[in-house]
Amino acid sequence: MSIQGEGGIRVASADYLRELRALCDQRGWLLMLDEIQAGMGRTGAWFGHQHAGITPDAMTLAKALGNGFPIGACLARGEVADLFSPGQHGSTFGGNPLACRVGCAVLDIMVRDDMPQRAAVLEARLLTGWRQALGNHPNVLAIRGQGLMAGIELDRSCKELVRRASEEQRLLITVTRDTTIRLLPPLICDEAQIDDMVARVARLLASNAVDRPVRLTDPTALANLQGE
Ligand SMILES: *Cc1c(COP(=O)(O)O)cnc(C)c1O
Repeated sequence: MSIQGEGGIRVASADYLRELRALCDQRGWLLMLDEIQAGMGRTGAWFGHQHAGITPDAMTLAKALGNGFPIGACLARGEVADLFSPGQHGSTFGGNPLACRVGCAVLDIMVRDDMPQRAAVLEARLLTGWRQALGNHPNVLAIRGQGLMAGIELDRSCKELVRRASEEQRLLITVTRDTTIRLLPPLICDEAQIDDMVARVARLLASNAVDRPVRLTDPTALANLQGE
């Protein structure tokens, strides 16, 4: 995958993906990518691997393809696509007409509204906002992401924060790899909602600061922490 979601929001470098493609080409191997989390516009491109300018031989899609309606898909191109024939890739509910119709409608709307572009625009706001608000936080090790797939890595377990985020900040977050807060906000968020989310996460982490006091040098961070 081009971004490890469960692995702590680790973005594969473009060089790594290009070398992987070259290696597969040299050896006659297939390059198969899982785009279930990073696909469908999430990272600011339709699929995460497009940031590296490569094309996989096969890729998987699900979740966002149905915008909540259950669907999964395996896409293959060229010679690889020719390897599949009817009956070889079966599943009880695979390819059912309703799910496929939903997937087509989701794609139509996402193309119409250029949702990948939306994610690219909001990425800057989200990551810059967090870097300003949390750059000096004593427990924040890294802020990383691509498009609206973003994570904040702490120097300690942050599982407890999931409950506190919903109770204290009315914010739903998940934690991956024990120490990384993962946020995949809806692509239909507007700018104000992104700013609000940045502020809520900053407030959550401000009350979580341990070891050393939070050093605040940035006026935006100060405003966020005061709940302005
Ligand atoms: C959810 C998820 C899967 C599993 O998808 P299914 O449709 O349940 O098979 C695989 N990979 C990633 C990255 C996922 O997020």
